[in-house]
Amino acid sequence: MLKTGMFDKLHEECGVFAIFGHPEAANLANLGLYALQHRGQESAGVASSDGSDVYCYKAMGHVAEVFTPSVISSLPGERAIGHTRYSTAGDTVLLNAQPFSVATNKGRIAVAHNGNLTNAMEIRRTLESEGAIFSGSSDTEVILHLISRSREKSLPAALRDALLQVDGAFSLVMLSRSQVIVARDPHGFRPLAMGYLELSGDQISYVFASETCAFDLIGAIYVGDVEPGEMVMVGPEGLTRERFAPRRPKAQCVFEHVYFSRPDSIVFGRPVGQSRELLGRLLAQRCPADADVVVPVPDSGVAAALGYAAESGVPFRMGLIRNHYVGRTFIEPSQAIRDFGVKLKLNPVRHLLKDKRVVLVDDSIVRGTTSRKIVRMVRNAGAREVHLRISCPPTVSPCFYGVDTPTKSELIAANHSVEEIRRYVEADSLGYLPLGSLREAVQDEGQEYCYACYTSDYPTEIVYLEDLLAAKSRR
Ligand code: AMP
Repeated sequence: MLKTGMFDKLHEECGVFAIFGHPEAANLANLGLYALQHRGQESAGVASSDGSDVYCYKAMGHVAEVFTPSVISSLPGERAIGHTRYSTAGDTVLLNAQPFSVATNKGRIAVAHNGNLTNAMEIRRTLESEGAIFSGSSDTEVILHLISRSREKSLPAALRDALLQVDGAFSLVMLSRSQVIVARDPHGFRPLAMGYLELSGDQISYVFASETCAFDLIGAIYVGDVEPGEMVMVGPEGLTRERFAPRRPKAQCVFEHVYFSRPDSIVFGRPVGQSRELLGRLLAQRCPADADVVVPVPDSGVAAALGYAAESGVPFRMGLIRNHYVGRTFIEPSQAIRDFGVKLKLNPVRHLLKDKRVVLVDDSIVRGTTSRKIVRMVRNAGAREVHLRISCPPTVSPCFYGVDTPTKSELIAANHSVEEIRRYVEADSLGYLPLGSLREAVQDEGQEYCYACYTSDYPTEIVYLEDLLAAKSRR
């Protein structure tokens, strides 16, 4: 397990939100974060501004625990940004929770972002050698230092200056006393949707979020995405859009559609649920199975399993039930109970599985350990055969752009054939969706997605790759 804070950032998965021009900005940011909770459950934070100052509150825990009515009332003003963070690394400390709110020579600002910067460590080393002080390990601090050190006078220009020095993935939200500024990296790895909320009269409030499910909750209308390499500034003068970086090939994270985003969201302009159903349909075409029932691994496999069942004509059954109330920590009994962790989350519905030939559908196999336990669980519940179907290709490479995948040595598909994995997970058969079908499911005609976790073909240069790999293997 990683102990130092230095590399904690490698495993961040996050949700971001921003709103400008609403009398209850902090409360709406809080609501937006509720809808983005699946993107991070470790900490949550909101910063707001009333024109005279920037206020910030963040804490470890779920959104519902962090934001009490008194906390919300301590965040006044008509503009706000919010962040929810997840990290599986050892030291998930409050120091890394976002937004970061700091006083700079450009005034007080608060910043939060989703994604990993691939050259953050290189920049950090340089800054530290020049005397810069860092309090945590988040990439966001690097951006703050670069903003503060910029010779540009205005905040948007200083941000532009900073963002041109960083590589990798970021969907960023920033707040000053008078402005909300958001930006997306030139490859567009992570999503950032833009919308508006109609207020009384002809007033509107601008909103930004990682996923459109946050807009649905607050009644906002989705208008499109912040473009890769684009900065959007909203201030008292209105909204301006500006390209801050030269055009680069798009590299939108396909895993957002496979697993990470909610199926009720539109991500990269495409409904996630539509991609997931198609993933299941194509999986049924490419990896059919002689079976009696299609059973998803809930929740991640549900949408693809529905597609698989619809395409194959094999009935869909909720043969596994997930307990949604399992917290992050639980006390394991000292007396060994087999597969305790998985049993806490999933329980089989025996009468649906007994004597059945089961197609078990999930979105991915990472290390293989959970999948093996689930296959065993289904078999122990009386299934005659278990045919495991995965709605993406084998995961062979770690992600350096913000999805939590372990080091290559821990990725079962990086080191084993499909037949070896089948034997390890104890399935009667195992089928993965081919890459071409994944492209088809997200309608990637223009080659606009990143598939690096399936191909090892990284769209950016990974500076200090050795550091990144060492950090991942230290987990
Ligand atoms: P395992 O068999 O141990 O590799 O675990 C596979 C399970 O992990 C599947 O149910 C996936 O939905 C889930 N999973 C895959 N990627 C991630 C991720 N980045 N974060 C959390 N869970 C994931």
